[in-house]
Amino acid sequence: MIKKLIKRLLGQGDSAAKPGKPRTGKRVEVAQPEHGIDPALVDDKARKVVETLQDAGHQAYIVGGAVRDMLLGHRPKDFDVATDATPEQVKALFRRAFIIGRRFRIVHVVYGRGREHEVIEVSTFRAYLDAAAAEQVEGNEKTSKSELQGKSHVIDASGRVLRDNVWGPQDEDAARRDFTVNALYYDPRTQIVVDYHGGIADAKKRLLRMIGDPVARYREDPVRIIRAMRFAAKLGFEIEPKTLKPLRESAALLEAVPLSRQFDEMIKLLQTGHAIKSIEQLRKHGLLGGPKPGPFPLLDAVLADASKNPAREAFINAALADTDRRVGEDKPVAPSFLLACLLWHEVLAGWQRRKAAGGAPFPALQEAVDAVFDARIGDISGRGKLGTDMREIWLMQPRFERRTGSGPLSLIEQPRFRAGFDFLRLRADTGELPDELAEWWEDFSLGTDEERRALLDDVRAQQQPRRVPGSGRGAARTAGRCSCSTSTASRR
Ligand code: ATP
Ligand code: MG
Repeated sequence: MIKKLIKRLLGQGDSAAKPGKPRTGKRVEVAQPEHGIDPALVDDKARKVVETLQDAGHQAYIVGGAVRDMLLGHRPKDFDVATDATPEQVKALFRRAFIIGRRFRIVHVVYGRGREHEVIEVSTFRAYLDAAAAEQVEGNEKTSKSELQGKSHVIDASGRVLRDNVWGPQDEDAARRDFTVNALYYDPRTQIVVDYHGGIADAKKRLLRMIGDPVARYREDPVRIIRAMRFAAKLGFEIEPKTLKPLRESAALLEAVPLSRQFDEMIKLLQTGHAIKSIEQLRKHGLLGGPKPGPFPLLDAVLADASKNPAREAFINAALADTDRRVGEDKPVAPSFLLACLLWHEVLAGWQRRKAAGGAPFPALQEAVDAVFDARIGDISGRGKLGTDMREIWLMQPRFERRTGSGPLSLIEQPRFRAGFDFLRLRADTGELPDELAEWWEDFSLGTDEERRALLDDVRAQQQPRRVPGSGRGAARTAGRCSCSTSTASRR
């Protein structure tokens, strides 16, 4: 019994395949009348990638979330393709294709340019993960960098997979995918779905079921815990009891996952159009706001206290609902905007504190921004742009309260004006600022030259009493109709 437990903890239990005898499912081919996928949902470029690979003599299928979504009647946002061609073979078949990733090497096949560009991710069928046969390193992806070089299947001391680049047959590729509904392969030419793990039946039952032994699968890659939360929220599926049971206790393993991957998962969770439901899932399963720290310290910090401050809670909920709505309407969403929203009330508190202590308004805001940024975002490599954008949104806010002279014109010409304005809108929607201010900026930004002049005249007229002899300072302050608690513009 104890031996079995130790083996299981080391990843050598029943779940680990014996070398040469991987545990794979049985291949079942399901024809169109049975699965019902509407071929019109298939993206032209994804079809083209599959057909190019097939014409070159390779196996190729649309795979993963795209098949799952089509099965549920939705048009997928992005398409992944799986093939038996190696990344080098794939690259050679397309004009613009890039081999990317180290932990998991794949090819990005790119069509179009700029905003309209489309990327089809092509991955080579992976061999079943055999923990016993993998090379093991002492450290993690950072501390064992040199040891990892040139190796294709490596795990760390806890069994977490650091490299997963051994090619294999399709049935093994299916077995190493995460959930049964994510392990379906669709051939757009024959319209056949290949299903090794009963994914079609689970989709009908609306059940999220991990392939293989969930304990082992969370250990190999703890990010699957977050993925389970995301898919349950996005698809409205129940998590199958065996998949759910070890989920909370496995969450501690997430600490070992590189910060940048954790961060990406958090952003995905918040930006797939189901942020509010995803947060509910995290709460329900003790991964947020519970007695133990959750996998996302930033979310813990932001959301745990939000309920103590109604204004903050309203603002965060409005930002999350707005993000969900935008994704639903196919509008772009930026991680910088959402993060700026999540952390705004912390910035605001720091700003007010510094001003109350005698700090000049603008430097006080800059200092508050720096402090929050350091505490919550820190140094996640490659996030320079994200940080710059967040700061810009925050630092733009006082400028909205200065509606005289050339200020407004130069503000609307800023490349990030729209993000700054959307942020202002949320502040007004949740009662932090008067509605009138957001409406004025909306009119000003959309107006003709003449309308803009009229809007500026309006503000000037409202501020007239300032020059009326005998009127006090208080009168001047409110005359701009902006009784903003954070108003600095009038004082700068
Ligand atoms: P989404 O709708 O969010 O894109 P998806 O299922 O397509 O969902 P991706 O991250 O795009 O998710 O991954 C594509 C496929 O690759 C998944 O459906 C799954 O089969 C496989 N996959 C991705 N990440 C993992 C993982 N951590 N462990 C196992 N399989 C994974
Ligand atoms: Mg996908």
